[in-house]
Amino acid sequence: MKADIVTIFPDFFRGPLEYGITRRAQEMGLAEIRVHDLREFTHDRHRTVDDRPFGGGEGMVLKPEPLFECLESIGLAPREERLARRVKQSVVLLSAQGQRFSQKVAAEFALLERIVLVCGRYEGVDERVAEYLATEEISVGDYVLSGGELPAMLIIDAVTRLIPGALGNEASSQNESFSAVHDKEARGTGGARPAPTGGKPLIEECTTLLDFPHYTRPADFRGWKVPDVLIGGNHAEVANWRRAAALEKTQRNRPDLLLR
Ligand code: SAM
Repeated sequence: MKADIVTIFPDFFRGPLEYGITRRAQEMGLAEIRVHDLREFTHDRHRTVDDRPFGGGEGMVLKPEPLFECLESIGLAPREERLARRVKQSVVLLSAQGQRFSQKVAAEFALLERIVLVCGRYEGVDERVAEYLATEEISVGDYVLSGGELPAMLIIDAVTRLIPGALGNEASSQNESFSAVHDKEARGTGGARPAPTGGKPLIEECTTLLDFPHYTRPADFRGWKVPDVLIGGNHAEVANWRRAAALEKTQRNRPDLLLR
């Protein structure tokens, strides 16, 4: 998958892209991530990317011209093609006003051939970017951050780990919180999540569970013991305990997932 990040702070991504799974996916050729400095697409001496809002009010707004120029320079399909899903490309405008990011959205993004993440700053981005350039507006949660860089990195991380082969152990992304596998097991239907091929969302219509609790050595730490069943070596009992524990933890921490 190709990912492009558009930002006025390209150095922000130096660290995060160079660690762990994101780094490995790039080294393995599974992900190609490019960071574009929005100021490169300005034409004035001060490399101006922002201006005052029409109608007055606080703060500055990111201007449309550099954003349109930047995206037009990287060879994307026209917006209509992207909106109609005739191409596997998406331009995502990071915005607190967007639709909520989730594991389901991450799975859909992981099927794309190309994703562009546009990071806002200041009071936000000229609305014509949402109306005429972006394919979708995405929020990472109901809170306001100072810029779209952290949300962009969060999305890159969540999506990269869903690219087949990006994780050392393929099973690990299938058995995590919000994955369909938990849901199927909890309902007693069994079976693994299908391979991420084709255009359909992977975990559509699933009520998902949180992951089950994990333990490692020592079995007794300060008198707090690991559940006996995990040490007993009976795989069926371990599986049963994990299903029950995942359900219990979901009920306790995220009952909304069960109500859905
Ligand atoms: N005035 C905007 C509002 O109230 O919705 C907030 C602008 S925020 C200070 C600046 C930039 O941070 C936004 O343009 C967006 O790119 C990013 N941002 C802030 N919160 C976000 C969130 N929850 N999800 C995604 N991006 C966010």
